[in-house]
Amino acid sequence: MNRIAKVAVDLSLDREFDYLIPDELQSTVKIGSRVDVPFGKRNVNGFVVGFAEKSAFETLKPIEKVLGEKSLITEPVMELARWMSTYYLTPFENCVRSVLPAIVRRKAHGEKQVLMVSLAENASSTRTSTKADDCASNQTRVASADERKKLSPKQALIIQCLEKTGSMPLSELTELAGVTASPVKTLEKKGLVTIAKESVYRDPHAGITILKTEPLTLMPQQADALEKILTAMDSDKPETILLHGVTGSGKTEVYLQAIAHALRRGQGAIVLVPEIALTPQTVDRFRARFADQPERVAVLHSSLSDGERYDEWHRIRSGEATIVIGARSALFAPVENIGLIVVDEEHEPTYKQDEAPRYSARDAAVVRGHKEGCAVVLGTATPALESYRNAKTGKYTIVEMTSRVDHRKMPEIRVVDMRLEKDREGRHGLFSKELIEEIYARLDRAEQTMIFLNRRGFSSSLVCQKCGYVAGCKHCSVSKTYHKARARLVCHICGDEEGVPSKCPGCSSPEFKYSGAGTEKIEEVMAKLFPKATIARMDSDTMRRKNAHRDVLAKFRLGKIDILIGTQMIAKGLDFPNVTLVGVVNPDHALHMADFRAGERVFQLLTQVAGRAGRGEVEGEVLVQTYTPHHPAIQFARRMDFDGFCDQELAFRKELSYPPYAHLTCVTFRGENENTVEKTGETLYYYLEQCVTDDITLSPLVPAPISRARGEYRYQILLRAKKTGSMTRAIRRSVEAIKKWPKGVKCTIDVDAASLL
Ligand code: ADP
Ligand code: ZN
Ligand code: ZN
Repeated sequence: MNRIAKVAVDLSLDREFDYLIPDELQSTVKIGSRVDVPFGKRNVNGFVVGFAEKSAFETLKPIEKVLGEKSLITEPVMELARWMSTYYLTPFENCVRSVLPAIVRRKAHGEKQVLMVSLAENASSTRTSTKADDCASNQTRVASADERKKLSPKQALIIQCLEKTGSMPLSELTELAGVTASPVKTLEKKGLVTIAKESVYRDPHAGITILKTEPLTLMPQQADALEKILTAMDSDKPETILLHGVTGSGKTEVYLQAIAHALRRGQGAIVLVPEIALTPQTVDRFRARFADQPERVAVLHSSLSDGERYDEWHRIRSGEATIVIGARSALFAPVENIGLIVVDEEHEPTYKQDEAPRYSARDAAVVRGHKEGCAVVLGTATPALESYRNAKTGKYTIVEMTSRVDHRKMPEIRVVDMRLEKDREGRHGLFSKELIEEIYARLDRAEQTMIFLNRRGFSSSLVCQKCGYVAGCKHCSVSKTYHKARARLVCHICGDEEGVPSKCPGCSSPEFKYSGAGTEKIEEVMAKLFPKATIARMDSDTMRRKNAHRDVLAKFRLGKIDILIGTQMIAKGLDFPNVTLVGVVNPDHALHMADFRAGERVFQLLTQVAGRAGRGEVEGEVLVQTYTPHHPAIQFARRMDFDGFCDQELAFRKELSYPPYAHLTCVTFRGENENTVEKTGETLYYYLEQCVTDDITLSPLVPAPISRARGEYRYQILLRAKKTGSMTRAIRRSVEAIKKWPKGVKCTIDVDAASLL
């Protein structure tokens, strides 16, 4: 028997404390139990994160109470938290926290049960109309005049309240009627109302009816992929499958049928989708397939209210919902007996969390798959090089789907050299002649166009023509973006904003030049070029209103919008059959980012964007406007040559021993005082030099590419090694060697960093 429990308390301390488990609680205290424990002079809540036989401390206090019936964390998820703690060098308690939504951590008790009061149904002699059956779903019983006379004023008032709604929670009823519970109980005795315990779920989809869809007859490649996945699911061994399928090859249908298989086996499934692709359209496809058992499906995403999230989570914990669709953290959903984990668009950098624990949900999914002994499917049209290599070395099983459903052709990608465009007569500057003509052609044929530019705002910088002054941010080492409609200069890093100056702060000249077009400018210019077209813009500036996203997409689908302009928001997972043209405006700035993955990102982006075109009967076309037409990322994307791109990119990575040939850890130092930040970095570097083993490549301390952000200076050290273990050990030892950490300097350790900016 376990005598000692390790408890992570709800205070912000990154350690576990030992507590005795009293005899009477031996069987109820489990890993993940919420408990009430004495802490100093008071009591606090915490989680049980592990057990021990012995403790280094002699006198231990006992756990006083176990809160709630079920442990909040399943054992495999607890093990996953442990893995994250070691792998990502993050305090364990921190990891335990991150596997539970905050609202679930804060509320001690399991599912929310309330006493619901309803009007009794059968006793009625006064069903008001014969149409009662039509409103069977909100049957109300109206007390007869006779009965009414016999009621006390309080009782009558209660009946009145209930007649409006049919039923309501006891607490709301007593508050509304201004009574205690006792007259309600009297009414229950009289048989006029019923009181029953009910779990209330705030269903975010209440009132939306979805029609069930039937499984489609699979194309041969889909059938082959499904079979491999089912075989993996049926075997006891965990297996990871990289499903490399071009956009439109029908990956989602394969996921759906694999999930159905899990259901048949009595197992659950988790589907991860990048937050940005977690559109109603995506979610509805999953809901619709399982519409005959809607309670089985739970959705977790960032726009749920706390209440909704709490309820969805507990529906999963109680075993009611076994299919979970959600963004990154849905990986930790407490589904038991998992048969399948799907990570869709596995290459997406947003799967990496940018605060501690800095986990990659894709990699963590593979680890969870091992702990659960289930199949993991990583699906994408453009595998991350890490996954691609894992497939090549046999760690993952690769399954390819090279043709689109119904053998529709992939769209043709044309690269427009904007350098030549510059010298052309009657040039426009922002758009090439070709793009303009193609858009005209689409408008004539009532087809739709998407224009993609990964930069919001009007212009990315404001420069004085006379003295060269650039409107930069006071707090960050970047220039401010001009937002014309709001007439503001905005920093896209820290959000700081100000009005647009009327004259140059440097030399008082009124001559400004704006450069670097953003989506807002594209919209304005397009409106002038195509006055008859209906144009909409979709970026985080226009999508602030709740449901704005849904509304614009719905209009676009109905053909009420001719041209949709947007940032990466429109690049993901959308499926519009009438879009036959996609224009990509200037992907060059993304290529010039100071990040070794810049080429990979641009290749992925172009491939994804191209996948938006020609999803219907008419063939699609993609125009990429660029000043660097010969860049390999652009050329390989143009030829749809994924293998070619990988070969070339892998050779380059190997040469420099960058990922996927090594794991890369980025240690960043931040603080307001540049001198102390740099000094601290140098000190750590000194210790690192002593701690690193031969297998580790240590790069010297340098300013980060964005050297200042939110008022803090930033320096970084990169480490690379074949295995993360020795690297994290060296870092931990070096950090511990610094006896006194200087005030005001923060250090973050990002294992398998996704971005180096
Ligand atoms: P992907 O996720 O690979 O980009 P989708 O799963 O979105 O592809 O499929 C593209 C379209 O093809 C969707 O409209 C889908 O309903 C349809 N589809 C998928 N599989 C089939 C099939 N076997 N038969 C007919 N249509 C299919
Ligand atoms: Zn000036
Ligand atoms: Zn700023």
